[in-house]
Amino acid sequence: MAHQSLRSNIMHFDTLALRAGNQPDPIGAVVPPIYLSVKFERDENYEYGAGYEYSRGKNPNRDTLERALAILENGQTAVCFGSGQAATMTLLQALGPGDHVVLPRDAYFNTPNLVEHVFHGWGLTYTRVDMADLDAVKAALHENTRLVWTETPSNPRLTMTDLLFVSQLAHDAGAAVVCDNTWATPVLQRPLALNCDIVMHSTTKYLNGHNDVLGGALVFRDGESALAQRVRFLQRMAGAVPSPFDCWLTLRGLKTLALRVRAQTQTAQKVAEYLATHPAIERVYYPGLPTHPDYELARQQMDAPGAMLSVDVKGGAANAIAVCQKTQLFVKATSLGGVESLIEHRATVEGITPQTPVNLLRMSIGLEHPDDLIQDLAQALG
Ligand code: PLP
Repeated sequence: MAHQSLRSNIMHFDTLALRAGNQPDPIGAVVPPIYLSVKFERDENYEYGAGYEYSRGKNPNRDTLERALAILENGQTAVCFGSGQAATMTLLQALGPGDHVVLPRDAYFNTPNLVEHVFHGWGLTYTRVDMADLDAVKAALHENTRLVWTETPSNPRLTMTDLLFVSQLAHDAGAAVVCDNTWATPVLQRPLALNCDIVMHSTTKYLNGHNDVLGGALVFRDGESALAQRVRFLQRMAGAVPSPFDCWLTLRGLKTLALRVRAQTQTAQKVAEYLATHPAIERVYYPGLPTHPDYELARQQMDAPGAMLSVDVKGGAANAIAVCQKTQLFVKATSLGGVESLIEHRATVEGITPQTPVNLLRMSIGLEHPDDLIQDLAQALG
């Protein structure tokens, strides 16, 4: 079924996620083949009739993934990359010296790191603000602001950004808004419907969902915009592209995205409620708890609060690390969004200048039974 007719004929996200990566195949294959060929041969007219020449520029599996992601985020075009960071880097590369970017204070730490340690040296200026403080966001917008970066819920403190409001402020100042929707996924939050211009994904996380692919994507509301065109040019020119097999695996992951994210979210809610009552826990960061400062915003902006949560453990860094060490079912690894539950001491991951409380543990809730996860935490917390 063609891209546009798929979007207009099938209304439910679950069905779209299942079918968006299916393509009509000349011999009737239900699952698309993987095109490993880097080169494509010219036809009898000495043309590339099918549009494929060299797979840095264009590859059938990448095309299919890009079409599927555009459908799921309801954008006009998607551009895929070899990692989330490659997607972020390419969007920043599309800006120029003297341009200004507004960055959130709480975000995946390597997003501001990329601006501060790479692009600042190339003349990009930036201001970091608390995205919940709308006066501060307004004050940070300058004449040369091209981009406002949002990430909601944020990594690792799960703060929420009011996307409609921030988009209004940014557009009034002539800037575009990008939302890193990695943690929410389009199952739970649709930034383009909240007036953002671009959605960014680390497809490494929920979209692939099985901890076995690195990938990233940018989805544009306006595929003809100068920024979208420049990003597409840089993708093909600079070549930070995903492999055909990784695209194929991510497409397979998309088929179960809605089921996984909803089930993982239900379990996360139970785990968060359990941890909120535990005497060894100082604080739970989860927007599905009424005690979370952004509980109401999360209810308005998301279909459900998602499957990520963080906690501050009483007694400092040593106690937090000890809890991690004692878990048996939770996998002690970084990253998120896969079917296995992961736990990590975030400050250790962030290195010598951690931006996170030293007693914070971050958990990515997977598809295990909630009672088994709670039992594991109970024994680890003592
Ligand atoms: N954005 C968020 C919210 C993330 O959590 C991450 C990685 O953890 C990234 C971006 C970077 O993605 P990748 O690791 O695929 O480069």
